[in-house]
Amino acid sequence: MWQDFLQLVFPRLCVLCYEPLVKQENFLCMHCINNLPYTHYWKERDNPAAQLFWGRVQLEWVIPFLHYTKQGRVQKMIHQIKYHNRPEMAEYLGMLFGNVLRHTCLCDAHAIMAVPLHPLRLRQRGYNQSEKIARGIAGVMKLPLWNGIIERKTWQKSQTLKSRYERWENVKDAFELINPLAVEGKHIILVDDVLTTGSTLEACANCLINDGKARVSIATLAKADLV
Ligand SMILES: [Zn+2]
Repeated sequence: MWQDFLQLVFPRLCVLCYEPLVKQENFLCMHCINNLPYTHYWKERDNPAAQLFWGRVQLEWVIPFLHYTKQGRVQKMIHQIKYHNRPEMAEYLGMLFGNVLRHTCLCDAHAIMAVPLHPLRLRQRGYNQSEKIARGIAGVMKLPLWNGIIERKTWQKSQTLKSRYERWENVKDAFELINPLAVEGKHIILVDDVLTTGSTLEACANCLINDGKARVSIATLAKADLV
């Protein structure tokens, strides 16, 4: 009753089309969910996202959920979860993603882990958006979410204008495996928000694989199509 009243006075709107949401909808209306630009890369192991890592690091699967295009709907959602203090929306999108991943080869993974933010960045933003996405995925897949296994040592400036080599130089030693024993022999799903050049994910995965003898799959909310 009170909820109905609130919805009447302050209707909850879809973040993409601004239509009022019905009771069982959150953040996105059913129409927008059905029309998101899904990659469907979970059906194809040698997908273009996986190919990005060929010759760089040996991964099990690489699965971005959505295509990210500039000025597009996915950019709008990523912007909301990164800069508009919407951690609960990141978790919700993770749940949508988890509903897909639990029917794939990733369901045999042992745990989920997010690419960590540097502590200073974490303090600045208040939360790690990738950790929220990972939490949503973990809940649906009924897998443990591991924190504090890897630490980010270096503070990163914006990578947007850097070349792939410069990005790699910038991140290759950015991570440190704190707890190698926890990951040894395990299959870990490493989660990030957007896959662009893959430098950050490569560095983080390398840390788990080389220093921790883990197997790693990558799951990101979106993949930016590089020009
Ligand atoms: Zn909508």
